[in-house]
Amino acid sequence: MSNNDTEATSNFIRHIIDEDISGNQLADGVATRFPPEPNGFLHIGHAKSICLNFGIARDYGGTCNLRFDDTNPHKENTEYIEAIKNDVRWLGFDWGERLYFASDYFEKLYDYAVELIGAGKAYVCDLSAEESREYRGTLTEPGRESPFRARSIDENMDLFARMRAGEFADGERVLRAKIDMASPNINMRDPTLYRIRHGVIHHQTGEAWCIYPMYDFTHPISDAIERITHSLCTLEFADHRPLYDWVLDNINIDNHPRQIEFSRLNLEFTVMSKRKLTELVAEGDVAGWDDPRMPTIAGLRRRGYTPSSIRDFCTRIGISKSENTVEMGVLENCIREDLNAHAPRRMAVLKPLKVVLTTYPEGQIETLEVSNHPQDDSMGKREISFTREIYIDSEDFREEAPNKFKRLVAGGEVRLRNAYVIRCNEVIKDVNGKVIELHCSHDAETLGSNPVGRKVKGVIHWVSAEHAIPVDVHLYDRLFTHPSPGTSSDDGGAYRDFMNPDSLRTLTQCVVEPSLLDARPGDRFQFEREGYFCLDPQSSADRLVFNRTVTLRDSWAKVEQQYR
Ligand code: ATP
Ligand code: MG
Repeated sequence: MSNNDTEATSNFIRHIIDEDISGNQLADGVATRFPPEPNGFLHIGHAKSICLNFGIARDYGGTCNLRFDDTNPHKENTEYIEAIKNDVRWLGFDWGERLYFASDYFEKLYDYAVELIGAGKAYVCDLSAEESREYRGTLTEPGRESPFRARSIDENMDLFARMRAGEFADGERVLRAKIDMASPNINMRDPTLYRIRHGVIHHQTGEAWCIYPMYDFTHPISDAIERITHSLCTLEFADHRPLYDWVLDNINIDNHPRQIEFSRLNLEFTVMSKRKLTELVAEGDVAGWDDPRMPTIAGLRRRGYTPSSIRDFCTRIGISKSENTVEMGVLENCIREDLNAHAPRRMAVLKPLKVVLTTYPEGQIETLEVSNHPQDDSMGKREISFTREIYIDSEDFREEAPNKFKRLVAGGEVRLRNAYVIRCNEVIKDVNGKVIELHCSHDAETLGSNPVGRKVKGVIHWVSAEHAIPVDVHLYDRLFTHPSPGTSSDDGGAYRDFMNPDSLRTLTQCVVEPSLLDARPGDRFQFEREGYFCLDPQSSADRLVFNRTVTLRDSWAKVEQQYR
């Protein structure tokens, strides 16, 4: 596997596995699984789970299954299945032949349900959804037993068979486990095992079924069938563990995986629930699941993130049981470090200002050989053209500026990156007083050497006007203006009130050096002094579009200060 670049750091789950190994409890090796529900694209939180599960399998010489948890067919589709497979593979993990669907086990699950009925441990209940809620009780009050709880085994067998045969409408009946309506754990108060759902065509099983098993029944059995040893899931399932164990303890199955919970990843300034991400896509708040502002794997990929930067992030945040929210800066630092080391340098001017070098001969073109990476010669060199007319960034010029402005000012000098020192002699303005052009002279002695007798501190980037390629640039900012937009919002869409109206700015006047015409979709670069950018896969040949992956320095630290 290609991800040995991320060092495995130990955590409490690995300690448990170490103990199991030393206690000789893992004769057949470690077996984990990653069990996504195909009802949306994977997000960075899923990456944490993927790196954990596949990482353990890799480091312990075990196996990790990819299992689609497909028991809610009305929300699922094959587009999501393909996207999930693609994302897991892109992250650098390989499930080999071990691709499964919970729906592979529908027939077996049905048989286990019949087994529970036969043992008097499950019954068909006719309470409506609303009545069931009333009977369930609350955190402080015990529930009440359903009037249907005392049904005979024979009647339950008959009704369950007829549920499967399609004799009843959606919601008319459910199959429930018979456990304990007084349990302090609400999950144990006769939880639903099967519900009726007509009229959906399941992406794997078509119209074969009109009853579907619940997650809490399906998951432990799927794990046991696949002989998973450690079933790793997020903390919200801790209260479901007694049910996980109850299911396996009360059917005839020769394997009992151990469920272990860890805290889910929360990231500041974004939302991570699939329901909310689905809503952002459906409402058109973003351009799709792979919008570069989305915390999805597909969005991060399109933004320019590398698989190794995401794996590195998952290693750095670690695995524990404590809930916390990770700063966006942590994720950004991972890609920044990766691209700083590996992205070739290019020159791009985002807000061009024309500079005419009056001392440079008209029509002359000098070809300069410049390095692709200042610290890494192995990345080679490229050629750029120097001409009498060039573009610099308008932000790199001020008519007047304090001393600490180390760029170009009227009457001052600056070095052009990889080229000459120039001096600004004349500032040309339009009728409104807006600076539209600079007339400068160049010092012909300063190509590759310092000017004699004076110090020139600033260095700015530039592009030959004659050779400039016009492109669009997308500048991305956080999607939400609040560090935790998702917290107050189980009431519907409140988090959407915090959407950042400036999360995408499109610059359409940008110019880049011609070598970027060779870029392929997804290629990443450092635009010198501007940040890291990647060529959007949806660029057209006649109009390149670059997405800003991340700025050169951490601009989050400042933003986050505001909220403390
Ligand atoms: P959501 O709550 O956003 O709908 P989910 O947990 O229902 O997500 P699944 O497709 O069921 O999404 O998740 C597959 C696996 O990924 C599960 O084991 C789940 O615990 C894990 N997972 C989901 N979100 C996170 C997260 N934020 N951090 C770590 N693991 C996660
Ligand atoms: Mg889930």
